[in-house]
Amino acid sequence: MNETLTAPAHTAPRLDRLRAAFDEQKIDALLVSDPHNRRYLSGFTGSAGTLLIDRHRAEIATDFRYWDQVGLQCPGYALYQSTGPLTEWLPDVLRPQGGKRLGFEAATVTVDLLRQFREVIEGLPAADRPELVPTTGMVEALRALKEPEEIARLERVIQLADAALEAVVGRIEPGWTEKQVAWEIETYVRAHGGDGMSFQTIVAGGPWGALPHARARDVPLQPNQGVVIDMGALMQGYCSDMTRTIFLGEPDAQFKQIYDIVLAAQLTAEEMIEEGMDGHTAHMIAQSVIEETGHGEQFGHGLGHGIGLQVHEDPYLRKQSKDIVRNGMVFSVEPGIYIPGWGGVRIEDLVVMENGRCRVLTTAPKVRFAGR
Ligand code: ZN
Ligand code: ZN
Repeated sequence: MNETLTAPAHTAPRLDRLRAAFDEQKIDALLVSDPHNRRYLSGFTGSAGTLLIDRHRAEIATDFRYWDQVGLQCPGYALYQSTGPLTEWLPDVLRPQGGKRLGFEAATVTVDLLRQFREVIEGLPAADRPELVPTTGMVEALRALKEPEEIARLERVIQLADAALEAVVGRIEPGWTEKQVAWEIETYVRAHGGDGMSFQTIVAGGPWGALPHARARDVPLQPNQGVVIDMGALMQGYCSDMTRTIFLGEPDAQFKQIYDIVLAAQLTAEEMIEEGMDGHTAHMIAQSVIEETGHGEQFGHGLGHGIGLQVHEDPYLRKQSKDIVRNGMVFSVEPGIYIPGWGGVRIEDLVVMENGRCRVLTTAPKVRFAGR
């Protein structure tokens, strides 16, 4: 990632919050290899590096390509220049952890990497060997609670995406291909300060809209067709995510009916989701609105997901979720109905939980049918 160097993130309070969770996890230190967690804890935006956080010290190991960059981006960190394969430099980094319980991120560490960790540890003198302890979701749990500066960044990237959609949606006509719509949106984002898209833009005309994760095709849009547009911009490391469903022409009765159900499900959820609610209950608010109309089986995915440095992160709002929604969390509310052979309608906003309620951050209009 060739990103402009930004001011160092204020990482010290994040490290304090991480260390506060060490006892509960029964660890003395954490080896961080997930790239987003690494960025969150250190401010380092390079693509390779390992953090070792213990109770008193934070160290970052990276190679010569990023040597100047870590110096600028990671004040407060001890720097270690890694050369050659992991098995050559990791012993140096791990030796001070001898006899301690060293957590690693089970969700990111591959079987191969774990084998190398073990090899390195077994190569150390007995007194210098830490004990490896798998952990899950420690940094992710911190990331789910956004700081005011993070919410401000999310608001900026959301505004950019809203403006991109606004600039393009009114010009879409039958005959444009799905890819053309995606390209116009992406061009706008890049031309107005975005670093790129947070995921591959979805533009799905007619029956293609029945696939919740459809990709934009080289297929021209037809008159009197619904079009699902799901897009996200990326700026200063933060992602946005929004879906709008438009109609090319005067919407028919079926489209209006389905659209109104999805919109009612979304507005009800945005109104009723509150602090302390679990992800299952939040999901069921929208699910029951849709179920009452007989379309329950056609919803089929979760109501929402957290967003930040990644487009999908904690908390998750879905049937099986036990995540608790807290003040400071930013997440999507995106019910949909998908009918094979006909198409789909999905409407997605991002909201922040604030003073116990949802504040909707996305401002793009919801009912905006091309051609009128
Ligand atoms: Zn989306
Ligand atoms: Zn989403």
